[in-house]
Amino acid sequence: MSMPFDLKFFDNPKNKEKLKIILKNDVCNNCLGRQFGMIGHGMTNSERGKIIRNFVKESKEPTKCFLCNNFFRDEIEKVTKNVVSKFHDYEFKTYLIGSVIPDELEKRQEELWEKTGVEDVEPIKSEVNREVGKLVEKLSGKKFDSKLPDATALVNLSTGSIRLQIRSLFVYGKYQKLARGIPQTKWICSDCGGKGCKVCHGTGKLYKTSVQEIIEKPFLKAVGSSKSAFHGGGREDIDARNLAWRPFVIELVKPEKRKIDLKKLQKAVNKSNKVKVSGLKFADKEVVRKVKFEKLDKTYEAVVDFEKEINKKLLPKLKTIIGKISQQTPQRVVHRRANLTRFRRVKKFSYKILGKKKMKFRVLGESGLYIKELISGDNGRTKPNVADLLNNKVKKISLDVVKIHTK
Ligand SMILES: [Zn+2]
Ligand SMILES: [Zn+2]
Repeated sequence: MSMPFDLKFFDNPKNKEKLKIILKNDVCNNCLGRQFGMIGHGMTNSERGKIIRNFVKESKEPTKCFLCNNFFRDEIEKVTKNVVSKFHDYEFKTYLIGSVIPDELEKRQEELWEKTGVEDVEPIKSEVNREVGKLVEKLSGKKFDSKLPDATALVNLSTGSIRLQIRSLFVYGKYQKLARGIPQTKWICSDCGGKGCKVCHGTGKLYKTSVQEIIEKPFLKAVGSSKSAFHGGGREDIDARNLAWRPFVIELVKPEKRKIDLKKLQKAVNKSNKVKVSGLKFADKEVVRKVKFEKLDKTYEAVVDFEKEINKKLLPKLKTIIGKISQQTPQRVVHRRANLTRFRRVKKFSYKILGKKKMKFRVLGESGLYIKELISGDNGRTKPNVADLLNNKVKKISLDVVKIHTK
């Protein structure tokens, strides 16, 4: 129910005094009404200000408002039009208005409040955001949304400039990597930072392609973006295949379009013989967090070449590998990760002999278990390990993720 502003409010001497202090300054109707913004509902600050101005028998607003520099009278329409024209480059449904209030203006507002108190006031920022927001809604036909807007327009009150932030478009899916030698994400050359140099043969990258690049290509084209971020639910080694379906979210940065045909895009990605995707659906930041931090058990298959012939008498010992494994950070990653010892479980383990020096292992391990090191021993940094149990050194491991145990 709306409760309009009631002038009886000024029967209270304290409130009347407050009004007197405010009117010592030149304030427009908006800025006047806003100082009593919390009194009465169902009207704008400008309407409230008008009522108060009639009450004190002033007929006209001052030429220049000391609080808003006549923003509400002279600037707001221009700003609104600018916002709406910025909207034209992007396809979206919902928006939010934010504003940057110049320091001197904030200071004047605070100085006034020091004299009048802050009980009934509304800050200028919230009126700017709301009033511009209302006009933008009328002019653009888009919907105001304070919770999860597709676009946020930041209005700078001192310069009149507008900065448009477009929310990323997130797409969830699962991927397979059917080829070895491809990293999950784009790997920028650290020697040149992506500009291109001798080390990277002028490409700016250390690998020709990646799971991210194969997936992003049709997506970027469809949404009109030049950049993606790839959030994987863990990652397989560059030389390992992922025959299971690994959850991921691709984040399309500053998309011009948001309406895209995921079925069509799935088909486009799946023309690749290296990467396949399935189960695409629209997602949000919360899904990114879930995908990145969910700890999932995985089943691996590893085909291993040993240096010597396999000693079959030692094979029964392999049973003892089920259980807790102590792993010091592998030598191959210790240059970029903390060197510490952690414990991960092997839950299932089986093997098959493929040749005199060749075996295949199937391992169900807890999230974070390093499989290559479980097999090679990594110079004693992983214990127990297959190489020690078989008293044989490992020459080569071909690793596949074959199942990701999603909950
Ligand atoms: Zn004003
Ligand atoms: Zn380079």
